[in-house]
Amino acid sequence: MRETARLLELRSLVQGWRQRNERIALVPTMGNLHEGHRALIREARQRSDRVVVSVFVNPLQFDKPEDLKRYPRTLEADRDILVRDNVDLLFSPGVESIYPQGLNLSTRVQVPKLDDILEGSYRPGHFEGVATIVCKLFNLVQPDDAVFGEKDYQQLLILRRMVTDLDIPVRIHSVPVAREADGLALSSRNGHLHEHDRRRAAALYKALKCAEDLLKQGKSVNSIERAGTDALERAGFKVDYLTIRRADDLGNVQVNDTALVVLVAAWLGNVRLIDCLPVYLSSNR
Ligand code: AMP
Repeated sequence: MRETARLLELRSLVQGWRQRNERIALVPTMGNLHEGHRALIREARQRSDRVVVSVFVNPLQFDKPEDLKRYPRTLEADRDILVRDNVDLLFSPGVESIYPQGLNLSTRVQVPKLDDILEGSYRPGHFEGVATIVCKLFNLVQPDDAVFGEKDYQQLLILRRMVTDLDIPVRIHSVPVAREADGLALSSRNGHLHEHDRRRAAALYKALKCAEDLLKQGKSVNSIERAGTDALERAGFKVDYLTIRRADDLGNVQVNDTALVVLVAAWLGNVRLIDCLPVYLSSNR
């Protein structure tokens, strides 16, 4: 595996591959890699000849400085995983190379409507930071394909919209949420959970599955959202939202919609977890 933190070296490496007509896939991450990231890498490998993984804890997308400070940085362990997974290039730039003028950028990418609801309303500026760094990474690597997780469902939709609206020639692919045996979605935040909260955390996926069952039984969206929120609160969560939306634009569900997604964000102690479950209903409800 090649590895660089330097922008010029990155550009020249990928340029060499492109001149040989090799297809390049990018998997953007913030490191602390787990099975979820490895699933993205496998998808990238199937799509392309060369797989580039970026590891960059992007300060621009953190709305709370203490979150940025406690974000786990585990580059050595990450490197071992990437070598084992046959990744071609690890790009791990420093903050100064990505933001040489500091974080007060005059050019930023916004995806209005999609970026200020749900996660965006709880984490102001978060998606602007995400869209801006992903746009920069796309310009640096110029991949043919990029792979993201459904775990960050709203992020995925925002990035799809960004490449469409800005004519960025990158195909976006997505991978379902990778989970622990008890259903908890893998996340770098899980490591912050106290032992007793870790045991309770499985209730989050249970609430999603229960919402799916009730949707399939034809129960109303409002009643399912209320039941899910109550169940999580009884399990010790503080719920930011548990909501059922249209899968393609996160709009409110209309009578004949069949592609839906249940999205949840909730706190256990001082750890905020998010998860989601796409749900497809048969059209002859
Ligand atoms: P992160 O390093 O948390 O910024 O995530 C990098 C990429 O991995 C994003 O596209 C995430 O959606 C994806 N990802 C994170 N956790 C999971 C998971 N449990 N399953 C699938 N994809 C994930």
